[in-house]
Amino acid sequence: MSDLFYNSTRSEGVKVSASEAILKGLCDDGGLFVPERVPALPKTPSELSQMDYRGVAYEIMKEFLTDFTEQELKACINAAYDDKFDTPEIAPLKEAGGAYYLELFHGRTVAFKDMALSILPHLMTTAARKNQIREEIVILTATSGDTGKAALSGFADVPGTRIIVFFPKDGVSPIQRQQMVTQTGDNTFVVAVNGNFDDCQTGVKKMFGDKALSLELLDKGFRFSSANSINIGRLVPQIVYYVYAYTRLLKDGKIADGDEIHVVVPTGNFGNILAAYYAKRMGLPISKLICASNENKVLYDFFQTGVYDRNREFILTSSPSMDILISSNLERMIYHIAGNDPLRTGELMKELRETGHYTITDEMRERLQDFRGFYTSEQGTREKIKQLFSDTGYIIDTHTAVAGHACDSFLSDNEQPLTTVIASTASPFKFPRSVMGAIDEKYESLEDFALIDELSRLSGLPVPAPIEEIRKAPVRHRTVCEIEGMPKVVREFLH
Ligand SMILES: *Cc1c(COP(=O)(O)O)cnc(C)c1O
Repeated sequence: MSDLFYNSTRSEGVKVSASEAILKGLCDDGGLFVPERVPALPKTPSELSQMDYRGVAYEIMKEFLTDFTEQELKACINAAYDDKFDTPEIAPLKEAGGAYYLELFHGRTVAFKDMALSILPHLMTTAARKNQIREEIVILTATSGDTGKAALSGFADVPGTRIIVFFPKDGVSPIQRQQMVTQTGDNTFVVAVNGNFDDCQTGVKKMFGDKALSLELLDKGFRFSSANSINIGRLVPQIVYYVYAYTRLLKDGKIADGDEIHVVVPTGNFGNILAAYYAKRMGLPISKLICASNENKVLYDFFQTGVYDRNREFILTSSPSMDILISSNLERMIYHIAGNDPLRTGELMKELRETGHYTITDEMRERLQDFRGFYTSEQGTREKIKQLFSDTGYIIDTHTAVAGHACDSFLSDNEQPLTTVIASTASPFKFPRSVMGAIDEKYESLEDFALIDELSRLSGLPVPAPIEEIRKAPVRHRTVCEIEGMPKVVREFLH
């Protein structure tokens, strides 16, 4: 098997191994690592349908992480996809209302980020060993809610690592906040920032780009890395579950080998849907990739017009993990539709930084034909939750409802009615107030945990253990800082 290297989206001549790309997170030029080619599926869907989640994970990941040995990669996979997940299927498919919901929320933080963040710490410490890194790895992460907790629980007490998470003080749900501020582990540090998610993300990116700060910390034995969705160590594990979903449909006789499916993804930073795109490029029979946005509809406008414009009001919605105006992973897609041209991509990203917008060419738009953009209003989100529950008894969270609604809009556009898989990115137990409020206004007066108990009764599902645990957990993190104060907080935590 030939080695696969990673290039930069922003300059020529960058060529690193998978393990180096995982360790660095971001390229020195500020670009993202992209695979120099997309490998083909190593086995047919029929063959893969005979395997369990771990088996499929190995088959897909080994094609991208070619400098990991079989033993190393299997050890990472086994350590990640074990009984931390509350079902041996890891990512079960549930049929409801004419679509298949791919439940990606059976891990420790009951949201889809666990799918990648349970394995990233293992990939990273393995990569460090392979590259003779002696410094402690310091993970800096900006979160709009779910990444933070998933990264914290992935890295907590992993030897040789520390993790610092920044979240927007008023931009996460009470449950999300509670999950983060109760995080245990002496190597964890959680900070609320007076700003929105983009401020947190920009602040973290600035620290990564700050050479003086890096050198200062290197001197003290620390090396920055990123657990954000730009890390290819997160992107690659996400490709797995799309392949897995297809093979389950096949195994259950819902589709025939080779049948195309549509995939709908509730999108924020464009990481999850980009993974679906790579799955398609690997040869998985996916017809359309439906990018669902909430009222922060930058991506919808982009797919409609070819103009990416972040100059607009930032809206706090009931799907906070998608409240994003700069979708970092879109840069990889831009690179691909520019014909893998880093100079062109670099220029567009510079324009975005300087003016807040850019326009792609007609030729680039042509190459986005497999994508469809939709957005769902707050009201549409509520209606979808309520309608699906009253029709089927199945309860979905707000993010998934944004996608469910987009799916309905897509299919009513006279698109080919194929089997459709909707990425279900969070458990409804994570957003009980919005979910229960959508089902009936009478719930609005209840406390969060009373809502959770009511949700359990209504859905007939037990309260997930990770939610049950935070009910009484003590708060361990109380730091609040201003946007400009982020580097100071990092210095203090690392002394
Ligand atoms: C992060 C997240 C998303 C958005 O995923 P991206 O990869 O950033 O596009 C959607 N839903 C939930 C629940 C999330 O946590």
